[in-house]
Amino acid sequence: MLAENLKSVQEIIKESLQKRKDSKLTGDSVTLVGVTKNHPPEIVAEALAQGINNIGENRVQEAKAKREILGDGGYWHLIGHLQTNKVRQAVALFDLIESIDSEHLLQTVEKEAKRINKVQDVLLQLNIAHEEQKSGFSKEEYLSVLPLLNNYPHVKIRGLMVIAPKTDDMELVRDIFAAGYRCFCRLKMQRPDIDCLSMGMSGDYAIAVEEGANIVRVGTALFGQRDYSLKF
Ligand SMILES: *Cc1c(COP(=O)(O)O)cnc(C)c1O
Repeated sequence: MLAENLKSVQEIIKESLQKRKDSKLTGDSVTLVGVTKNHPPEIVAEALAQGINNIGENRVQEAKAKREILGDGGYWHLIGHLQTNKVRQAVALFDLIESIDSEHLLQTVEKEAKRINKVQDVLLQLNIAHEEQKSGFSKEEYLSVLPLLNNYPHVKIRGLMVIAPKTDDMELVRDIFAAGYRCFCRLKMQRPDIDCLSMGMSGDYAIAVEEGANIVRVGTALFGQRDYSLKF
């Protein structure tokens, strides 16, 4: 089943890439992150075996449990809200922390990365629609984080992460992704080395790619429904 799902997701990504208008700044390929949260470790192993090398998890504890079973391999993305008291473990576990949503968190990541002599790749999470229940920087404030980064040599900013609102209004979703792409372009003028724009999940990754995403985070469309009774 995974093999078939993967093929169709890759097909849709390819078609969406051809529909891109202006996205030269994010390149002409897309990294598919397989979101394995609430799936057992065997699913992660299967994903890796199928060539899905980027694995997305939203909880530190769950990722740790899986990595202990699976050992090395894969490039791990943290895509869920990170609490300050979990930063030490997160820095040890994840190759890319996509969900940096406050200056305080950034400062804590610097401290923990320095402790183990790592340079931690991160994305800034944007809250473009100003949703109350979501964290992240507003599109008005995210650039003000940049001066801080000069003091944080153990943090490398790679780009931005955007989560669209839960809605059936796909034009609104498209507007949010288009705004995300504009934010990416503005950031890239100041930091030419940034290269990641993470936007799009199972319900909207086609639109995200059309609007310029070069990382998509896909769970359900690859692995089916999540099992919330699993304990990690
Ligand atoms: C769960 C999750 C995804 C994947 O969601 P699907 O709809 O199952 O593809 C992507 N991004 C984030 C931030 C998530 O929490």
